[in-house]
Amino acid sequence: MAGTNKKGLLVVVSAPSGAGKTTLCKEISRGLPNLKHSISYTTRQPRPNEIDGEHYFFVTAEKFKQMVKKGEFAEWAVVHGNLYGTSKKQLSSMLNNGIDVILDIDSQGAMQIKKNWKAGVYIYILPPSFDDLKTRLMERNADAKDEIKKRLKNARKEIPYYKRYNYVIINDRFDKALEKLKSIIIAEKLRIERFNKNLIKEKFGS
Ligand code: 5GP
Repeated sequence: MAGTNKKGLLVVVSAPSGAGKTTLCKEISRGLPNLKHSISYTTRQPRPNEIDGEHYFFVTAEKFKQMVKKGEFAEWAVVHGNLYGTSKKQLSSMLNNGIDVILDIDSQGAMQIKKNWKAGVYIYILPPSFDDLKTRLMERNADAKDEIKKRLKNARKEIPYYKRYNYVIINDRFDKALEKLKSIIIAEKLRIERFNKNLIKEKFGS
């Protein structure tokens, strides 16, 4: 976006599993070409259709732990019994190259980023209700029954974290939720503290 700072904007999005966050995050980068996903590392097994290096970097627990030891993660967490982490190198290189980055991570990871990276916009996505969340998880059919139970239990613990975010979006209608997410990102990029003041000086001399 013309006039904005060279450093990219960091957008952190969390939600309980099944709130539609992944679909929203995927769609949003289509409308905002400078916004890219950071590809997380995980020890979870790939689902059918998931591609290594595209959806996640699928690694062994041993490899993941080595990376933790070497301090290679900007944040990492155990989510639904698997390890997930964001590469520090990938994240800083994207931001330093002026790319806006969207992190689709759980609240434990989001809070680590908030503590260590400061700048950034934190958005929480909620489903319209808990029953709706249950239905969505069951309809999605991507996970086994036990996995769905685990995700619902985690959702109860996860949802109260919404208070620590800057924005909340209730995903009752996908197109509306997408519009809201897009509006937040566009407005955040225009904030005075993120604006490239040298550019204004060059153009207007003040
Ligand atoms: P899924 O296994 O359904 O793809 O993701 C499960 C949860 O892990 C989601 O809430 C997702 O946001 C979160 N997650 C994905 N990548 C990361 C990551 O790098 N760090 C953290 N902390 N959570 C992640």
